[in-house]
Amino acid sequence: MRPMQDPLLQRSLKSVWHPCTQMQQHDTGALPLLPVARGEGPWLIGTDGQRWLDGISSWWVNLFGHCNPRINAALRDQLETLEHVLLAGCTHAPVVELAERLSVLTNGELGHCFFGSDGASATEIALKMSAHYWRNVGRPEKNRFLCLAGGYHGETMGALGVTDIAIFRDAYAPLIRAATVLPSPDSRNGPDAARAAADALAAHLEAHHSETAALIVEPLVQCAAGMAMHEPEYLRLARALCDRYEVHLICDEIAVGCGRTGTFFAHEQANIRPDFLCLSKGITGGYLPLSVVMTREAIYAAFLDDATARGFLHSHSYTGNPLACRAALATLDIFAQDNVLAANVALGDRIDARLRPLAGHPRVSHYRRRGMIFAFDVETDPGFGRRYYHTALQHGVLVRPIANTVYLMPPYTLDEASMDHLCNGVAKALEVALTP
Ligand SMILES: *Cc1c(COP(=O)(O)O)cnc(C)c1O
Repeated sequence: MRPMQDPLLQRSLKSVWHPCTQMQQHDTGALPLLPVARGEGPWLIGTDGQRWLDGISSWWVNLFGHCNPRINAALRDQLETLEHVLLAGCTHAPVVELAERLSVLTNGELGHCFFGSDGASATEIALKMSAHYWRNVGRPEKNRFLCLAGGYHGETMGALGVTDIAIFRDAYAPLIRAATVLPSPDSRNGPDAARAAADALAAHLEAHHSETAALIVEPLVQCAAGMAMHEPEYLRLARALCDRYEVHLICDEIAVGCGRTGTFFAHEQANIRPDFLCLSKGITGGYLPLSVVMTREAIYAAFLDDATARGFLHSHSYTGNPLACRAALATLDIFAQDNVLAANVALGDRIDARLRPLAGHPRVSHYRRRGMIFAFDVETDPGFGRRYYHTALQHGVLVRPIANTVYLMPPYTLDEASMDHLCNGVAKALEVALTP
């Protein structure tokens, strides 16, 4: 276990309120706080030189390792050029180039990019844009939202309204305008899960389409729910229903975009295009907060008018920050130069071959993989997640189970040795943690 004498730990506990954390667990030492001094590729290096392999890409953001030389170089150059300028009334090369390149990745179908600061702000933007679109086209009653059971779209108030994770939402329920929660296509619900979920969506839309603005989904993998995976078939059916009933489809690819599921965008695997696409997390390679909501020409056009109030007046101070955009451009360069999607097929297969034998463990069920996401459920007691986290750290691996689901979402840059280290650590921690 981490020695608590590192003065940084004591100072952190006195002054920093850590996210998604019951701070008392740190205060009592029940949960170790890791003092991280440096990052090096997939490794995090502690103040005392201890090394942990970042098996979850620092909350799913880091694609090409920590302190990546190419992203660092792009940022140094940008620092000497322009650190920031407001995006209202001004523009700059990094934001234009990023919007153009992202648009090309959607074949030009989502040609308009609105920038925000983080994932939750992207969700807010997509929801507001959808409802405002319907208001602008004379159908203001279309202002309700649909989301899926177990869905997660961020933790600001609007985003919590379309989030179905009780531990994040319940304390704030009185403050939130809740969306309608529809059944999830989670494949663990059986072979007909996609069709059953689509049938439920159809029934709801049939009755309520006239007051519905949009359906928001996490395509292919509901990550925060515990890596709940579904078939692309659901997305195809949902797209067709949204078209039929004139309801927007919002794809929240904040976690599953940027190559995580095997294609650059997860929705590509269903051969569909959403009306709004939300990106964040990996878009800057895990360097800087940036999010973007991409949408279609027809939606953009509905906001053009002499009246200022028909415009989309949403803003964040750091919208389109040049440093963040440069990090994103450097990230897209790496995708192109290193043919990352193809390389990930091979890397993912190698990791899969190492982890899949765990599926035979008597306490493991639903081993699953989509692209560079690997997960399995463990039949155990509620204390398992904490024990697993501790044990994995002792084996030099940083993983944070979600309830009884162990998952890996590693950076795309693992070499053979770091992959070995990661897969061995995951298997060893399972054996130890299963003993309460
Ligand atoms: C992380 C996440 C968000 C929220 O992003 P933040 O940057 O944490 O606000 C929204 N949607 C999904 C699917 C996410 O995984």
